[in-house]
Amino acid sequence: MRTFTYERANSPAEAAAAAERMPGAKFIAGGTNLLDLMKLEIETPAHLIDVNGLDLDGVDPTPDGGLRIGALVRNTDLAADPRVRRDYGVLSRALLAGASGQLRNKATTAGNLLQRTRCPYFYDTAQPCNKRQPGSGCAAIGGFSRQLAVIGGSEACIATHPSDMAVAMRVLDATVETVRPDGATRSIPIADFHRLPGDTPHIETALVPGELITAVTLPKPAGGTQVYRKVRDRASYAFALVSVAAVVQRDGSGRVALGGVAHKPWRVEAAEAAMPQGAKAVTAQLLAGAKPTHDNAFKLPLVERTLASVLTEAKG
Ligand SMILES: Cc1cc2nc3c(=O)[nH]c(=O)nc-3n(C[C@H](O)[C@H](O)[C@H](O)COP(=O)(O)OP(=O)(O)OC[C@H]3O[C@@H](n4cnc5c(N)ncnc54)[C@H](O)[C@@H]3O)c2cc1C
Ligand code: SF4
Repeated sequence: MRTFTYERANSPAEAAAAAERMPGAKFIAGGTNLLDLMKLEIETPAHLIDVNGLDLDGVDPTPDGGLRIGALVRNTDLAADPRVRRDYGVLSRALLAGASGQLRNKATTAGNLLQRTRCPYFYDTAQPCNKRQPGSGCAAIGGFSRQLAVIGGSEACIATHPSDMAVAMRVLDATVETVRPDGATRSIPIADFHRLPGDTPHIETALVPGELITAVTLPKPAGGTQVYRKVRDRASYAFALVSVAAVVQRDGSGRVALGGVAHKPWRVEAAEAAMPQGAKAVTAQLLAGAKPTHDNAFKLPLVERTLASVLTEAKG
């Protein structure tokens, strides 16, 4: 691990300002992703700004009937919150499908959204990786790509986003609240928060350097039956090969987002008009234009079957 300096921030605006002032600075929350990456020297921040002392750990109602989740709310606490369990079941289920109890006790809402990919070549510093080292190439293209993206990829990167929580937040139309180093605040719809790789896969979100996430806001409850189904190689402690987050209404209409298939949680709102016609019709539109590799073409039928199972469960 490289040498770094460390400070504790006293306010969100101060944390963001410090990040701009100190070149190569990073925020640290639960540390469950960042510290691993630092030990492997994949991330080498010169300075860490510890945000754990900030007053960002509440879950509060919003005036329009939604919930505002502080950036530091731990995954365990969010999954167990009675309002989340009652009104946003897909989010509670997605959180509980992720990592392990011990990790969820440390992992935060903001850190979860910003966790880096699990592409095996990203972790292997002997291999070229445009995300780790821009311009070096992509070892996954033509390499081992079983876990990687089937849609939305580029010539530069076919990594997937590993978060379960983010897929549920995408289907719930969450909004990410931030403060920038100049003190300005803004709200970013989750649909615009994560980016597709294009030719700059190292730029993963809409955040500008030094911008701090302060909260994630959920709109008023969507109702319906909410399901999160994660298909993985092991029953626990494994990332999704494919996951489906769905909100299904009594008349068969609803929303669906996918994990494990793209560089960001994957949702195509236009495909949801086909929900009453069933999984085949929705999947055809959701994954139109997919470019799977030889190794991961299995994900296309897996999405359709998983969605079919989710829709059957939702109908009771
Ligand atoms: C063995 C293992 C298995 C796992 N399995 C799963 C799984 O199945 N599903 C899943 O979804 N996740 C899984 N995870 C990932 C885990 O959920 C993440 O590591 C965790 O959510 C990251 O949160 P954190 O608070 O620890 O982030 P940190 O490691 O502290 O930070 C992560 C990133 O977020 C940035 N950051 C943190 N807070 C802020 C903020 N407020 N504003 C701006 N930037 C910020 C940091 O600078 C850093 O870049 C697994 C992790 C491990 C180690
Ligand atoms: S898929 Fe992306 S993360 Fe994986 S090696 Fe290629 S550039 Fe790196």
